[in-house]
Amino acid sequence: MAKSGSTPDHDSATLDHDSVTRTEKRFAGRTFHCVNSDPTPPARRSLLRAALTGTAALGAGLAIGTEPAAAAPPIAAPRKRPTNAEEALRELSAGNRRWRTFRQQHPDQSPAVRQALTTAQHPFALVLGCIDSRVPPELVFDQGLGDLMTIRSAGQVLDEAVLGSLAYGVLELGIPLLMVLGHQSCGAVKATVQADLSGEELPAHIQYLADQISPAIDRTKEGDARVDATIDANIRLIRSHLAAEPDLAAKVDSGALTIVGARYELTTQRVHSIR
Ligand SMILES: [Zn+2]
Repeated sequence: MAKSGSTPDHDSATLDHDSVTRTEKRFAGRTFHCVNSDPTPPARRSLLRAALTGTAALGAGLAIGTEPAAAAPPIAAPRKRPTNAEEALRELSAGNRRWRTFRQQHPDQSPAVRQALTTAQHPFALVLGCIDSRVPPELVFDQGLGDLMTIRSAGQVLDEAVLGSLAYGVLELGIPLLMVLGHQSCGAVKATVQADLSGEELPAHIQYLADQISPAIDRTKEGDARVDATIDANIRLIRSHLAAEPDLAAKVDSGALTIVGARYELTTQRVHSIR
């Protein structure tokens, strides 16, 4: 699964609210809304307050040690957490900007946050990404504990376990943003394109991945350009599959969920929308 050396030049849209709005409009016949009201449940607000003040939950955690509070590392300043898809996307965009400009803040890793998260989690975004070791969502979006629910499979392909995990995040945790995150030089996509050309079966369960990605192969392109175009087409295909899932579609229709496609560029470390 050697990587492709091509550089994409097809879609340079920034990952911002405007691009989301445009993305949403491409889903014919379905309206995508962001949640306008504050959907934060009371329990979450309490948790956030505890996390921000480092009081109740942190106090419980101190039972395991005898060190005075003054000996603990400094607690990072609290930040406003996203409460809807629009805010979530804005935070991911800001985090990716920090990442690619080497100004990471490594948020939500303080002792207070770790203690607060022992009782509950309220991630603000679901990221379905590839297993590629160069694209860990928490790093490329500069997020911390409890911020992202990440689900990863090669080529971010869907199966029952992936769909069940996504459904858990949306239906049980009420996460308002679901991002399908592909990336430049995806080995799973390249292997699929190569196997399609050679007609050879891929070993073991790897063939399953190729079977899922194959419908996205862009046969109008050749060589590295075909791999690159198929990466984008695969993101769109997965996004459309998810949008057609009845339970997810109902959430989208009610305005509680937004589904977007995005791509990470290894060369620039930038994430941008795939519409
Ligand atoms: Zn990949």
